[in-house]
Amino acid sequence: MSDRLVSVALPLPVQTAFSYRAPEDQPLPERGVRVVVPFGSRRVVGIVTGPGEPIEGVALRDVLEVVDEAPLVPPPLLDLAAWVADHYLAPPGECYRLLMPPAGIRASRAIARLVEGEAAAAFGDDPVVAALRAGPLPLSTLARRLGRDPGARLVRLRRAGVVLVEQDLGAQGFRHIRIACLVDGHYAPGGKAQAEILERLHAAGGRLPVPELVRDRPSLRGSVERLVAAGAVRIVEERDVRQPDVLEAPEPKRLEPSVDQARALEPLIAAMDARRFAPFLLHGVTGSGKTEFYFRAAERALEAGRGALVLVPEIALTPLLVRAAAARFGPTVSVLHSELSVGERHDQWWRIREGDSRLVVGARLAVFAPIEDLGLIVVDEEHEAAYKQEESPRYHARDVAVMRGTLEGATVVLGSATPSVESYANALKGKYVRLALPTRIGSQGLPRIAIVDRRQILKSGGDPILTPPLKEALAERLARREQALLLLNRRGYATSLLCRECGLQAVCPNCSVCLALHDGGRRVECHYCGHEAPTPVRCATCRGEYLRLTGYGTEKVVEAVKAALPTARIDRLDRDRAGRRGAVASILAAFEAGETDVLVGTQMIAKGHDFPRVTLVGVIDADVGLGLPDFRAAERTFQLLTQVAGRAGRADLPGEVILQSHLPDHYAVERACAQDYLAFFEREMEFRRTMGYSPAAALVNLLLRSSDAAEAAEGAEALARRLRGEAQGRYRVLGPARAPLARLRGEHRWQILLKGGRPAMREAVRRALVERFGPVRWPGVSVDVDPMSLM
Ligand code: ADP
Ligand code: ZN
Repeated sequence: MSDRLVSVALPLPVQTAFSYRAPEDQPLPERGVRVVVPFGSRRVVGIVTGPGEPIEGVALRDVLEVVDEAPLVPPPLLDLAAWVADHYLAPPGECYRLLMPPAGIRASRAIARLVEGEAAAAFGDDPVVAALRAGPLPLSTLARRLGRDPGARLVRLRRAGVVLVEQDLGAQGFRHIRIACLVDGHYAPGGKAQAEILERLHAAGGRLPVPELVRDRPSLRGSVERLVAAGAVRIVEERDVRQPDVLEAPEPKRLEPSVDQARALEPLIAAMDARRFAPFLLHGVTGSGKTEFYFRAAERALEAGRGALVLVPEIALTPLLVRAAAARFGPTVSVLHSELSVGERHDQWWRIREGDSRLVVGARLAVFAPIEDLGLIVVDEEHEAAYKQEESPRYHARDVAVMRGTLEGATVVLGSATPSVESYANALKGKYVRLALPTRIGSQGLPRIAIVDRRQILKSGGDPILTPPLKEALAERLARREQALLLLNRRGYATSLLCRECGLQAVCPNCSVCLALHDGGRRVECHYCGHEAPTPVRCATCRGEYLRLTGYGTEKVVEAVKAALPTARIDRLDRDRAGRRGAVASILAAFEAGETDVLVGTQMIAKGHDFPRVTLVGVIDADVGLGLPDFRAAERTFQLLTQVAGRAGRADLPGEVILQSHLPDHYAVERACAQDYLAFFEREMEFRRTMGYSPAAALVNLLLRSSDAAEAAEGAEALARRLRGEAQGRYRVLGPARAPLARLRGEHRWQILLKGGRPAMREAVRRALVERFGPVRWPGVSVDVDPMSLM
C-alpha cells in the first residue's frame, strides 16, 4: 500500500521529513496540505511535501487528521520553502512552517463531537460515544479518559457518521461579528424600542454590527430579536478583521516623478510588463525618493492585476512608509510583522491568502506571504542585517526574495543608499541590473560632513562625549528651533564596571562578556543573554570596593546633553526604550511633531526616517563597530555612518553632520565622510578578495555548542578534520577556534569557518553531520550558510 504514503515535514528541529500512512477513506492529501500526525507521544501538525517512502521492517504510523481540503498555499511557495531548506541546510518542517498562518500549527486541536441520532443509539455501548455524551472533547483528553489512543475506534465511528472530528481553531479563528441589516424598509415598528433600532439602522446606511447597535442600550437586544422574527431585519455573521493601527492612514500623497525617478522606472516597468523574473539593484542616495519609486512600481503591478510585496527591515522603524502605503493604496494593503498580535497577524495572513489584500508591506517573514500571482518584490534597505534570521532556519530574506522572484516570474527591486557589497558585486557582474537615483529631491543636496578627531580633543582634556564643535552646533540648532539626531551605537549608561584594585571587569555569569551598566549605573545587564542584577558593590574576584564605571552608552549621552543644554527637550531611542509595543512609534511621532529637540539613539535612529527639520546629525563615536572581530565590521560602519548622515538636511534646510572619531583615517570612516560609495566598495572588495570572504568566496559557518567545555572542543576538532579530509581544494576550512563569544548562556562555543564553493561545502557539511549524528537531529550544531555575522 505504498501508494497511500505521504511524506510530512514537521515543525521541529529535525533534518528530514517523515513518512505516514494516509487515511484510506479520503483522497490522498496533496503536497501543501496540513495533516495531524503522531510523533513520539505528541500530536503535531505538519505539511505534506509529497509521496512517502516505505521503510523496511517499520510499520509506518497513520495520519490522524487531514486539516485542509486543498493545499494552503500555491505551489511556488512550497518550492520556495523546499529551496530554503536545501540552501540553508535547515530543518524542512521549520521552513514550511514559514508559509503557514501564524500559530496555525501550534494551537490547532482536533475536537471530537457526537452526532446525536439513530446511529449514535446503535453505538450506545461504545466507550467513545459514552465519553462524548457529556459534550465535545479534544482528542487528547478523550485518549486520556479512555486510557489509550481511540484511533481505530474513532475511524469506525466517523465512518458511521456518529462522531465528527473538527479542527478547533481557538484563538486563531477569525472573530465573527453579527451584523444587523435592514430588510423591510416599510415595516411598521411595534413600539418605541423597535422604532429606535430601525432609525439607527437607517442612519448607518442599513447595516450595523449588533454590539454597536445596542451599545448604550443593552435592553434593545430583545427588540432586535423581535424585528428579526418579523422579517424586518436580518442578522448576518461577518468576519471581523483585526486591523493593526499602523494602517490608520493620513491623506494620500502621490508625487509627480522626478526626472531621475522616471528614468529609473522605465526598465523596471518594461520588465514587469514582460511578466518575467528580472532583478534590479536600485542605488539611490539618501533622500533621493526611493519610496515614491517603489510605490509607482507597486501601482503598476496592481494595475496589471498582480500582487506586490514591499519588504522593510523593521516595521516599527518605518511607520511613515506603512502609513503612506495605506493612504495611497487603501484597504488592499496589509502589514505583516512580528509586533502584531497573533490575531492580527492571522487575519492579515488570511486577507492576503484570500486575495482581499494584494499589496503586502512587511518585515523579513513577509517574504513568505501567500500572495498569488506576484508581480513585484521590493526589498527596501537591502543591506540591512535585520533581513537575516539569526536562528533556525537561518535564511536571508533578500536572497529568498530573489529566489521567489525566479520561481514566480516576478520583478525584484533591491533598494539602498549603501548596497551590500554582495549586491553591488552582483550588479557589476550583470546578475542584477543597476538603477541609480544619484541626487537628492530636497533643494539642498547631500549634507556637509566634518570629522572631529577625538584624539586631539582628549589630549587637550576636552569632553569626550560632546566635543566643542558638536556642542556649539547643537546650541545653534536649539537657537534656530531646528532638530538634531545624536548617534551612539551602544545602549546603556556605561560599558563596564572595573575594579581598581585587581583591574578585572565584572563579567556575565553565563557569557564571556562584560556586564553593561544601565539606569544611571544602578543595574548591570548582559547584552547577550539578558542576565540582570543590581550593580555589585564589591569586585567578584578580589572583593575590592573601589569600582569604577568605564565607557559610556546612550544614557550617558542624554546626561551630557542635558548638562550642556539645560533647556533642550531630549529623548532617547534604543532597545531599552523600545520594549513596549508602540513605544518606538510614539518616540518617533513626538520627534516628528517637534516636541523633541534632540533625539539620542542607537542605530535605530539611522534608519529610513524622513524628518524635514533635522539639520544636524552628530555621531558621538564613529568607531564603535570597527573593533568587532567580524569581517563585515567596516561595511557595517560605512553603512551606518552614511545612513545616519542621510537623515540631515532632507528638505529645504541645509544639513550638517559631525563625526567624532579616534580613527579618522580608517577607510570606512573616511569614505563615509567623503560620501563616496564606489570608493568604499572597491577598497572593501580588495579586503574580501585577499581574505577570501563573501562575495569573493561563499561562507558556511559551523557553531558547536556544549555545556561541557571539552566536549565542544573535541567535537569541533573531529568535525573540522573530517571536513578538511574531503575538501580537495574546493573549499578551505578555518578552525576550529573559540567563537568570538566563547561562552553564551552557559554554553561553550567553538566555530569552524568554511570558505569556497557553496554546493561543495554544503554537501560536505551535510555528509559530515549525518555521519556523526545520523540523518535526523544534529544536536548542539548550528549551520549558518551565507552568514551575516561571525560573532
Ligand atoms: P529615500 O528613501 O531615498 O531616502 P524618500 O523616499 O524618503 O527618500 O524621499 C525623500 C523625500 O523626497 C520625501 O520627503 C519625499 O516625500 C520626497 N519626494 C520623493 N519623490 C518626490 C517627487 N517626485 N517629488 C517631490 N518630492 C518627492
Ligand atoms: Zn550573559
